[in-house]
Amino acid sequence: QDTFSTTTRHPRWVRINTLKSTLAEQLSTTFAGYEKTEDLKRILSATSRSKVYFVDPNIPNLLALPPKVDLSKTSAYVQSQIIFQDKASCFPAYLLDIEHEDGDVIDGCAAPGNKTTHVAALMSEQTPQNEGALNRKVIAFEKDKSRAAILEKMVKLASADSVVSIKTGYDFLRTKPDATEFANVGAILLDPSCSGSGIVGRDDDIKIHLPDLQSSLASDSKPSQSKKRKRGQKIDLVPQETPMLEMKLDDAVVEETPVKENLAERLEALSTFQLHILTHAMRFPNTRKITYSTCSLHFEENENVVFRALHSTAAQAGGWRILSREDQVNGLKTWKKRGVWESGKLNVDQEYTLSERKDIIDACIRCEKGTEDGTMGF
Ligand code: SAM
Repeated sequence: QDTFSTTTRHPRWVRINTLKSTLAEQLSTTFAGYEKTEDLKRILSATSRSKVYFVDPNIPNLLALPPKVDLSKTSAYVQSQIIFQDKASCFPAYLLDIEHEDGDVIDGCAAPGNKTTHVAALMSEQTPQNEGALNRKVIAFEKDKSRAAILEKMVKLASADSVVSIKTGYDFLRTKPDATEFANVGAILLDPSCSGSGIVGRDDDIKIHLPDLQSSLASDSKPSQSKKRKRGQKIDLVPQETPMLEMKLDDAVVEETPVKENLAERLEALSTFQLHILTHAMRFPNTRKITYSTCSLHFEENENVVFRALHSTAAQAGGWRILSREDQVNGLKTWKKRGVWESGKLNVDQEYTLSERKDIIDACIRCEKGTEDGTMGF
């Protein structure tokens, strides 16, 4: 199981759902008797039974627990007071800096809803007693109906349903940016389908596919050959995310297939879609901030999309620019891993001066999968 699911040790990241609880409350209940450590390495080397926690310095209300610690039976987890969410996956909602932005937020690619509920929590934190819910909302688009059903469940469980309006089966790309219902949209979070190459336990050689409802959670891509694993063997599909992604192989078919020969084509198709969705978001007239993220490590799906989007007519018409590192939220302006540049891959590279390139790359944020930061690749 270990060699298949995790090649490195990975903390169990736990986001406190501030719609239902607080960090202080969780530390005195679910994590009562746990010892605090300032050293993430101690978490990484701890056994699953060790009672030790680490408070993340970058993202508020985020804890790291020892790898494979089983919190799934705790009442905090069952009641969605705590949500399993990789640290890297907490960056996009936090980066939107909801506190300093007005208006509604669109989540353009929402299921299963980790970032949707995070945005909802940040929005409600801003206004005490959930008053925020009265005048601000999150509009969550999910075009796949089975995934939207999971999104609905997660939003309800997280008590975010008074803030989140779900657009089940809606394609964000088909929205009309100047429609009245979007007139108050101040920010957009975009976390579109991607190759998933940053997911822990997966690289470009191995793809995992689960049938039925679960399949759409795992990946949008479908490998061609299948290899069944033993029944009952437990697999951590996307180990740090959402309850639904962990299941017994009783219900799952795991397929492994080499996809290298198709990688370039796949990246081309994915990045065309990603660019399209990002430039579409740039057309919302009152939107001031967009976060774009993927759980891929490929330049083509990340910096390359950003460079191309910034060069688009939508960006020019809307006056879009990249938010420099200095203007990013406090917890992330100090984040050291920044964008990369891969020469020869950018089809608009001649449009940027060297110093513009440097600024854009410095504004992009990367997470590597590995033990240094304990994040997935993002
Ligand atoms: N943000 C989610 C989270 O943190 O839980 C994960 C999003 S997942 C990477 C991408 C999702 O976007 C998939 O559920 C996919 O079905 C959905 N999607 C892709 N294209 C879409 C579109 N054009 N409109 C709406 N949803 C879309």
